[in-house]
Amino acid sequence: MCGIAGVYGVQNAERLVAEILFATQHRGQESCGIATRNARGNVIAHKAMGLVKNVLTEDILSYYSGEISIGHVRYPTSASSNIDNAQPFAIDLAEGPHMAVCTNGSIVNYEQLRSYLEKEAGFTFLSDNDSELMGRLIAYYHVVNHIPIEEALPKALGQIHGAYAALLILRDKMFAFRDPYGIRPMVMGHLVGNVREEQLSDGTVFASEGCGFGIIGAREIRKVAPGEILCLQKGEPVRTIAKAPKTPLRHCVFELIYFSRPDSMTFDERVWDVRREIGAALAKKDRDELVGDDLVVIPVPDSSNFVAQGYAEASGLPFGMGLLRNHYVGRTFINPTQRSRDEGVRQKFNPLPDYFPGKRVILVDDSIVRGTSLRKLVRMIKGAGAKEVHVRVGSPPVVSPCYYGIDTPVPEELIANILPVPKIAKYMDADSLKYMDIEDFHEILSNHQDYCFACFNGDYVIKPADFESNPTISTDF
Ligand code: 5GP
Ligand code: SF4
Ligand code: MG
Repeated sequence: MCGIAGVYGVQNAERLVAEILFATQHRGQESCGIATRNARGNVIAHKAMGLVKNVLTEDILSYYSGEISIGHVRYPTSASSNIDNAQPFAIDLAEGPHMAVCTNGSIVNYEQLRSYLEKEAGFTFLSDNDSELMGRLIAYYHVVNHIPIEEALPKALGQIHGAYAALLILRDKMFAFRDPYGIRPMVMGHLVGNVREEQLSDGTVFASEGCGFGIIGAREIRKVAPGEILCLQKGEPVRTIAKAPKTPLRHCVFELIYFSRPDSMTFDERVWDVRREIGAALAKKDRDELVGDDLVVIPVPDSSNFVAQGYAEASGLPFGMGLLRNHYVGRTFINPTQRSRDEGVRQKFNPLPDYFPGKRVILVDDSIVRGTSLRKLVRMIKGAGAKEVHVRVGSPPVVSPCYYGIDTPVPEELIANILPVPKIAKYMDADSLKYMDIEDFHEILSNHQDYCFACFNGDYVIKPADFESNPTISTDF
């Protein structure tokens, strides 16, 4: 999982990109970067390991100054935590350094496309990341086979199967595009004061989520549509140059459950409100079962705050911030060993002193993956004096891996894949455990049929095995 941002046709575009990236830091803390088209027409990239505030410093931003800029925050994955996989990826064309790409998602037929480009086209790859593959494939159609970019881009994207929300700078143009299933989000906005009936390219901004738009004085206009390719050009209106053939939509429901910031509109849903409704649906499952003056609803902060709020509102039970979170502990989820994950959870959360004795706790979390967090937290809360802990989870059991850009562990590590629910409750010493059902989302989401639930039900719209014996590239130029 990652976040992307782009700004077209305003002075110091890189500063606005950096601001958006800072607002979307929750989408990735491993590395970040920007690519900018400078006054000489060269597209140059800077990327480094670390957080936006530490990497995109004043010195860097002044050096990488220009009117067209894209940027990226990368989510840590246990596999390939190194600078080679940071984005955006800049590619030198024969004429000069005039291209850069960044993307959020995961290309399912990556291996097949890469091996084609290496063997048949003689390309050399410098990283394992999707943006390099995407950039080189586009260059293959556009530069090697001399196809105008407006045609080359749909042809190249037609070969790519998987999840992507991507931004491309090519010479003085910028392109924004999403996969036909709309798996990963991307929204478009415009700097306020510049909006006319026909939206001009200059002043247009893009981001995985719109939560940074207000800060830079931009207004969110709409989503980039699934399968749409937008072209931005100086002095011209924003143009849709291609629309995907109609396919089923598969927005990642996990964006709403966990990933997106609560103040974003993702897939046209208010994220905080979806989470409140999830909480209300969980409360409904407990109606008449959990009653009493000694009950309190407690979130595992921060990801389940709104779910717990929704539970409390719907049940009429009090809401309490019984767990304190240390915000300076990095992501514990991604630590390489179970021991370091356990240690991370202990450093990250602390129970409020003198709060729990005599209480029965309804502990709300957004998801259970390996079960590490809740196993530790239930014990911590009981150790702090709670009489009972009832765990409620804002998603269905995670039983399958994600192939579309969320770094879920291998199936053998997914606790719901190994144990039935009562045994999971026992494992974490919970007095009861309930999850959301997939059907509960039917009432919450406006278009539930347009969502991916594959990590909960194994129903993948595309999977790596689909491509294992396929020649994957059309040479119909
Ligand atoms: P577990 O501790 O069960 O392995 O993971 C569940 C916890 O990790 C939940 O608190 C949830 O908020 C968080 N979580 C779920 N999915 C992800 C993810 O993809 N990345 C990170 N960093 N945390 C996650
Ligand atoms: Fe999202 Fe799960 Fe689908 Fe991956 S498999 S895109 S995490 S819903
Ligand atoms: Mg959490």
